[in-house]
Amino acid sequence: MRLTDSIETLPGVGKANAKKLHKLGIFNLSDLVRHFPYRYNDLSVITPIAETSVGGAYTVRAKVKSIKSRPGFRFRRGLARALIEDGTGALAVIWFNQPYLANTLKVGATYLFSGQISFYRSLQMQNPVWELDKRVTVHTGRIVPVYPLTSGIYPKWLRTLLKTALDSLPRFPETLPSGILKSRRLLSYDSALRSIHFPKSHKELQLARRRLSFDELLLHELAVLSHRLQLKKLPAPKIPFDQDLIKRFVSTLPFTLTKSQKLAAWQVLQDLESGHPANRLVAGDVGSGKTVVAAIPTLEILSHGWNVAFMAPTEILAEQHFRTFSALTLFSNLKLALLTASQAKLRKNKAEEKLTKKTLLEKLAATTGWALFGTHALIQKNIDFKDLGLVVVDEQHRFGVQQRAALQNRTREGTVPHFLSLTATPIPRTLALTLYGDLDVSAIPELPLGRKPVTTRIIEPGNRKTVYAEIEKELASGRQAFFICPLIDPSDKLGARSATGLYELLKTVFKSRRLGLLHGKLSSSEKTAVVSAFGEKKLDILVSTTVVEVGVDFPNATVMAIEGAERFGLAQLHQLRGRVGRSDMQSYCYLLPQNLGAKAKERLEALCQHHNGLELAEIDLKLRGPGETYGNLQSGYPQFELANIYDLELLQAAREEAQALLADDKSLRSPLFQDLIVRSRNKIHLE
Ligand code: ADP
Ligand code: MG
Repeated sequence: MRLTDSIETLPGVGKANAKKLHKLGIFNLSDLVRHFPYRYNDLSVITPIAETSVGGAYTVRAKVKSIKSRPGFRFRRGLARALIEDGTGALAVIWFNQPYLANTLKVGATYLFSGQISFYRSLQMQNPVWELDKRVTVHTGRIVPVYPLTSGIYPKWLRTLLKTALDSLPRFPETLPSGILKSRRLLSYDSALRSIHFPKSHKELQLARRRLSFDELLLHELAVLSHRLQLKKLPAPKIPFDQDLIKRFVSTLPFTLTKSQKLAAWQVLQDLESGHPANRLVAGDVGSGKTVVAAIPTLEILSHGWNVAFMAPTEILAEQHFRTFSALTLFSNLKLALLTASQAKLRKNKAEEKLTKKTLLEKLAATTGWALFGTHALIQKNIDFKDLGLVVVDEQHRFGVQQRAALQNRTREGTVPHFLSLTATPIPRTLALTLYGDLDVSAIPELPLGRKPVTTRIIEPGNRKTVYAEIEKELASGRQAFFICPLIDPSDKLGARSATGLYELLKTVFKSRRLGLLHGKLSSSEKTAVVSAFGEKKLDILVSTTVVEVGVDFPNATVMAIEGAERFGLAQLHQLRGRVGRSDMQSYCYLLPQNLGAKAKERLEALCQHHNGLELAEIDLKLRGPGETYGNLQSGYPQFELANIYDLELLQAAREEAQALLADDKSLRSPLFQDLIVRSRNKIHLE
């Protein structure tokens, strides 16, 4: 048997079962053995029957004294009832819906039974998992793996299948150099793969997990670091630091840059001077002012005649950036264009000119020195926008190494554009450095001077009216408000129904106010119209789904009410709240939960007390508890199958080993390394 064999070579896997396994991504034996448990049941402790009691779950080793079935009748499927005994006592056992077990279990034979004890006339174990008592058990009497399933694939069947496969496959060849195994005290690939499925102890499980996590992290680090090395060798537009220009730009801003904004901008400008592609992450909390940091290199690049692509996750945000830049004094004579699915326009002599997409593209192709704003569609192949000197990606962690690599052929003279990524995803600096090892990181840990924390309050379901009064006060003094509504049911994916409902309700509350409605079902141009109207203060209240979540900037909006706040995660609430408090005016955020459970309350209270994204991310982590897979916690982080990105020790080890491997010519030439590098490029989805 070989790893590349189809799963149908295993006994008991016919066409039908194979099809179901395909749904789990299992096609061959290699896929099967890499189908990892997502949790384990510890059924390894055997309890004497005499020591069991009602309500507890136990595993007992006992002999079947008698077993009988009661056949099904009408809608009932019958049951099997047994009496078992282990020398310390006897116990009744009952299996509902499985009367056939009376013919399967043998009187006089010894089995392991794992299940919950209840009381029905006497102590009784209900629907236990059972298995013949042998030296090696699979389903009970041990730490039992629990696998992701799909309909028609049952736990016991899949577990048996894995056991069979593991037992019949020869030793799995080692995938790491032996030096690393020794110095990092890692299990062999073979033992790790076997133990992750059927660990003999918790210690063994932990070691197996550590080894396989290390593999994942090493591949990740190899990919990002080799990408970094590769970039450092490639040429990029060399833009000398134009002190005069930058000074003039800064002096025309209506505010003073914070220290960390200055530092971040300076770091990017240094990158531009180096002659090699910048590859930098600017990480700063919502409202820390990342846009203006990106404006500085944009200005330099444009004034040297190169193009800039400025990409945002939504059309709304792309348009906003286009407007923001249009309003900057030093950009007024530069070539700015906006290209989204719904519109194409450029700015000329301080006025906007609408064009067809085709004409715009022709103009872009005819000359250089354009800043083009849009969504990620901008880097699609069919857009001919070359001579890129700089690519800025706003709020999009998922812009991966592969996508960045796709930009590499986009310039004249074979140079690679500089790359800048702006993110508000809270990530500790050390973690950022390691996870995004190919990127340099500039942190903006402070908010602009004079920002006041957004006053955040939980409003109990009965007290809505008090909020209306507070909001009316703000509106009366010329401010604007957001009402955010959650997606209530899956059939309302775009939020059209819930947002419309809220809009209608609020129209009856704020009778003299101008309300706008924004949800996913609107066409792009309708969305743009509503958002612009709000930006131009032609609306007082914007009722919206979470489409406003990232990036939009309306400093005059000082109130946000979040309906059904308990339905949102902390990170998302923090992002939403970040839409207010963007000036030196005091802002307010009202959380309007519909249903306030204890856990939700704790979460919302954390939001009231804390105003820092990183702190909130850490609290979120604690509140969710260790049961949660960390990898999924922050959608912005790379997703690992097993590795926990908060295991900094292992992450650091992987990084060091990846660095050593890449630095050593001999290891670079070894087939094992070549294999590692190929796997790191192909298998891992890089963020
Ligand atoms: P984010 O980091 O969330 O993308 P923005 O770049 O949208 O933040 O900036 C938020 C708001 O703060 C904008 O209105 C911007 O003009 C303003 N701003 C940026 N830097 C400063 C500063 N140093 N002082 C005052 N206001 C600033
Ligand atoms: Mg932003």
